[in-house]
Amino acid sequence: MSIIQTAHRAAFDVEAVRSQFPILHQDVNGYPLVYLDNAASVQKPAAVIDAIAHYYRHDHANVHRGAHALATRATDAFEGARAKVAAFLGGVAREEIIWTRGTTESINLVANSWGRANLRAGDEIVLTEMEHHANIVPWQMVAAMTGARIRVVPVTDAGELDMDAFRNLLGERTRLVAVTQVSNALGTINPVAEIVRLAHAAGALALIDGAQAVSHFVMDVRTLGADFYVFSGHKLFGPTGIGVLYARRELLDAMPPWQGGGQMIEKVAFAGTTYTEVPWKFEAGTPNIAGVVGMGAALEWLGTLDRNAAQAHEDALYARLDAALAAMPGVRRIGTAPARVSVASFLVEGAHPTDVGHLLDQQGIAVRAGHHCTMPLMARLGIPGTVRASVAFYNTAAEIDRFVAALEKVKTFI
Ligand code: PLP
Repeated sequence: MSIIQTAHRAAFDVEAVRSQFPILHQDVNGYPLVYLDNAASVQKPAAVIDAIAHYYRHDHANVHRGAHALATRATDAFEGARAKVAAFLGGVAREEIIWTRGTTESINLVANSWGRANLRAGDEIVLTEMEHHANIVPWQMVAAMTGARIRVVPVTDAGELDMDAFRNLLGERTRLVAVTQVSNALGTINPVAEIVRLAHAAGALALIDGAQAVSHFVMDVRTLGADFYVFSGHKLFGPTGIGVLYARRELLDAMPPWQGGGQMIEKVAFAGTTYTEVPWKFEAGTPNIAGVVGMGAALEWLGTLDRNAAQAHEDALYARLDAALAAMPGVRRIGTAPARVSVASFLVEGAHPTDVGHLLDQQGIAVRAGHHCTMPLMARLGIPGTVRASVAFYNTAAEIDRFVAALEKVKTFI
């Protein structure tokens, strides 16, 4: 795993990239849209939109069970996209890739399948204070069912994990460590390789939530050593409603299915049903075929980019944004860890984050305001929420400057 950036400063033609995103070219509230809500969901290039439309216009049929040309085409596209994800994650086996609705469903699958089969009263699940609710609530639910306990790694004032506390929390009762690779609320990049190593040394498994990381890092989950790795398509230029669970083959083979129905069986009889093999054992029912096709198109499209150059451009925009916020009186940045992706969380003195968000929207600027589905983190930091501006490589320096000017104007209303 490596962050896509460093000294590489190849020319990046942002206008050429932007021109592939139809949604970016519109006015909102009388101003050209400035979309800085990329940590919530990134916009889709025409290649993805067109691939989905093409699929429905020409190739749609149900997968795996048809004996006709369209079913074959749909199945080839569906399984081909699985192979693309396997390659994207560093060359894992395609059987280790399970399609889900998103990060949330991937974690629920692990909690309900692996968790219910393996957790016992007194076992411990280690989470952190900066987890998204998607990596908290499923564990609380499975803990309530099994009697397992949740232990929580604290976060420092700067928004980093307290790694000494993490080491101290690990013990012989630890069964699973589930940690986000990048904080969606603060942008902090966590030392996940070290976290996985420490979890394994304690005899536990490690689940890494890659929802905020996949668009910034070249992933190699084998080198990372994660037992489970999860992400959502919509944060990686793909459609909503599609996501991925990667898990090591031995784990998947041993895990019971979570949902039952068509596609996941070998033989069904009232006397007893047997299940098919991975990955289909975990994919009951008609899947989101169009979503999978869109995900495959997104990965193909990403492959046409110089991702180093794109990341360098994004890093430069973020540096410009962060410096402007740091210099702005009455603005308090939340999350100042040295290792961060392009997420700027902040508060404006005397204003509720939601009001700041609305005032920015009136100037055509889309940001997120609120707790970012990280209520425990907000409670730890003693704040109700933040305003979050998050940058993608299709943003421009002029947009960052527009955001900064708009925020200056917001301050005059407060
Ligand atoms: N984990 C993190 C770190 C996230 O940022 C998000 C979404 O913002 C999720 C999990 C949940 O993703 P989804 O809603 O796509 O399932």
